[in-house]
Amino acid sequence: MQARQQNYIVAPEPVVLPVVGSEAVFAVRRLYCVGRNYVDHIREMKEGDERDPPFFFQKPADAIVGDGGAVPYPTHTDDFQHEIELVAAIGRGGRNIPVAQALDHVFGYAVGIDLTRRDRQREARDLRLPWEVGKSFDRSAPCGPLHAAVEGGHITAGAISLSVNGKTRQTGDIGQMIWNVAEIVANLSRHYALAPGDLIFTGTPAGVGPVVPGDRLEGTVAGLGRLTITITARED
Ligand code: MN
Repeated sequence: MQARQQNYIVAPEPVVLPVVGSEAVFAVRRLYCVGRNYVDHIREMKEGDERDPPFFFQKPADAIVGDGGAVPYPTHTDDFQHEIELVAAIGRGGRNIPVAQALDHVFGYAVGIDLTRRDRQREARDLRLPWEVGKSFDRSAPCGPLHAAVEGGHITAGAISLSVNGKTRQTGDIGQMIWNVAEIVANLSRHYALAPGDLIFTGTPAGVGPVVPGDRLEGTVAGLGRLTITITARED
C-alpha cells in the first residue's frame, strides 16, 4: 500500500514537558495517579487501611499546567485543594514489569500538584460514584520540568514540600511513601500496558488543604527544583 500524508480535520496540540538541560521535549501520553501512598495523609483523610495495595486513577493528559502557569478556580467546587506529589515519567513501556527492573523504565522525575475538588471527591466516595469530577478536570495537573534520571539519578528519598503564599502547608519525605516508585511502576504495569510518555503522580504527604483565587503555590522535591503556579479568578 502506498504511504501517504494524512490530512487531519482537527489536530489537537501535543502535550509536552520541558526536560532540564535539553532542547528536546517529552511528549505526554497518559497521566496516572496513585491514591493513598503516605500513612500521615491516609490518617488525615480518615479513610482506607494503611496496608492496602496502591490504587490508581487517571487525569487527562491535557490537564497539565507548566511551571509558572495559572489555574483558574474551577467551577463546581467550594473546596479546591492542593496535593504536592513526586511525578515519575515513563521512558520505556512494558507490561508485568518486575520491581527489580522497574526503574529502568523511568526516564526521569518532576514536581507535580494533584489539584482536587475535595467536596466532589468526598461526595463521589460517599455515593460510590466515579472520581472523575473531583480529580480529572481541566488544569488539574500542574507539573514542572523533567529531570532525566541519567543525569540526576533516581529519586528514592528527600524532602517534598508545598507552600501557599510563602507559608508551608505540606512537608514530608519521599522515603515515607508506602509504595516506592519501582513498586508503583511494577504494580501499575499489571493493570495497564505502560508506554513512553506516561506520567505517574505518586501520592501526597499530609497537609493537604484549600486554596483561593490569588494564591501562589510553590512545590519542591529535593533535587527537582521548584514548581510555581497561581490560582486565578473563578471560572464561570
Ligand atoms: Mn493525589
